[in-house]
Amino acid sequence: MNYTDILIIGGGAAGICAALGARDACLTNGGSSAINLTLLEKNADIGSKIKISGGGRCNLTHSGSVSDILEKGFLRTKEARFLKPALHEFTNTDLLALLGKYGLTTKTRPDGCIFPATESSADVVRAFAAALRNVKLDLRYKEPVQSIAFQHGAFEVQTASGKIRAAILILATGGVSYPKTGSTGEGLRFAKNFGLAVNSPTPALAPLYFTLAPKEALIGVSLRQVRLFAKIGQNTFERTGDFIFTHKGISGPATLSLSRDIAEQFSGEKSPIFADFFPQKTDAELEKQFLDLLKSQPALLVKSFIKRLETAETALPNAMILEILHASELEESQKLSGLSKAARKNLLNALKQFELGLIKSIPLEKGEVSAGGVTLGDVNPKTMESRKIENLYICGELLDYAAEIGGFNLQAAFSTGWLAGKSAVGKFRKENDSKSGLS
Ligand SMILES: Cc1cc2nc3c(=O)[nH]c(=O)nc-3n(C[C@H](O)[C@H](O)[C@H](O)COP(=O)(O)OP(=O)(O)OC[C@H]3O[C@@H](n4cnc5c(N)ncnc54)[C@H](O)[C@@H]3O)c2cc1C
Repeated sequence: MNYTDILIIGGGAAGICAALGARDACLTNGGSSAINLTLLEKNADIGSKIKISGGGRCNLTHSGSVSDILEKGFLRTKEARFLKPALHEFTNTDLLALLGKYGLTTKTRPDGCIFPATESSADVVRAFAAALRNVKLDLRYKEPVQSIAFQHGAFEVQTASGKIRAAILILATGGVSYPKTGSTGEGLRFAKNFGLAVNSPTPALAPLYFTLAPKEALIGVSLRQVRLFAKIGQNTFERTGDFIFTHKGISGPATLSLSRDIAEQFSGEKSPIFADFFPQKTDAELEKQFLDLLKSQPALLVKSFIKRLETAETALPNAMILEILHASELEESQKLSGLSKAARKNLLNALKQFELGLIKSIPLEKGEVSAGGVTLGDVNPKTMESRKIENLYICGELLDYAAEIGGFNLQAAFSTGWLAGKSAVGKFRKENDSKSGLS
């Protein structure tokens, strides 16, 4: 049976940074690289999820200070508070400096999202692979871990090819979305077997599927700065942003951001989701604009009235305007004059509360991330060590957090991984020093 001092399971963003953070800690503070470090990855390469991130362009992090990142990227206070020490330990600047050393140049979009300058996620993985080659690490591919036990004072890890014993174990096996990348949820099982509390995975950053496909003319149509809102049970959830009609429902930034809130409350009972196309105007303001125009230009077409409401931010595509007319039971040739009060109400209602569809499901496997996982209360945020099982560290998406789109999820995985690796080395040294009577 093999033995290693520190064993990392999973070669995604968190596991890679756990290895690099551990080696960095070995070499700092006058240390050496004498600690044995092993990483097991079930795929034939590292970073399969990084490769598909950002549609193959990889939005690897976000610009700004740690507080900016926490505020923009992590809407749930408990999760932001938990991640704060890790994000301070290994910041976006640390990440870019590290990757820069291995040849990666990046560019920052005006909205703060950071991408490789080449817009190729493969370059991010290449830079990490070079970084890993530069440190002392036993990196084993095609090594799916099947089970883990704690025997005779060490973790005993069973892989397809044998057993490995380790003094310290870092679980970095990811969530459960896009299972083809290797994130199939085994880490959840391992954590449960150790008695850690695990919240069931729920979709996050996922599209919404409707009972009926959107009309053909709308598929692929995207809308800007719309307020999406849905009442699920007793709660109303909303986000303002861009969205797109898909073959099965809707997707795009506002939808993705909303999906976790909806998924957590969704009981399977079909619930309508609405769009407010002009969230910056109240119903009364819209009505006043209508009445003013009715007075000054009674022959104006209703569709031209809708166009007039647009700003650069909220230009409605023609296909959507036609749908709004259709939902208000109006002809394309309808003028402002001749519209009854009830028809006017219907029109204004369609502009402020347009039913996009009935939510049928939120597909877990299609989420950019999955929420749920090892509960944050069971993990020490300053070290990523389990509070229940000594020498067991948890990092990355296996933990019960989920961030917004914008590079925040990868940064959280990098940071928690780095902190876990660094803390594991500190713990290993401390235990060895005390065994050899140094402390
Ligand atoms: C389509 C898509 C687009 C995304 N785009 C972005 C983006 O642009 N920006 C952003 O910030 N985030 C993005 N994300 C989210 C981000 O990629 C993840 O949150 C992040 O990669 C999670 O890293 P991780 O290391 O925790 O888990 P993972 O990347 O899932 O890594 C886990 C690793 O563990 C391995 N593993 C699992 N079980 C075992 C086992 N039993 N034995 C051995 N190995 C095992 C897996 O093979 C995998 O390599 C995207 C996600 C998806 C799916």
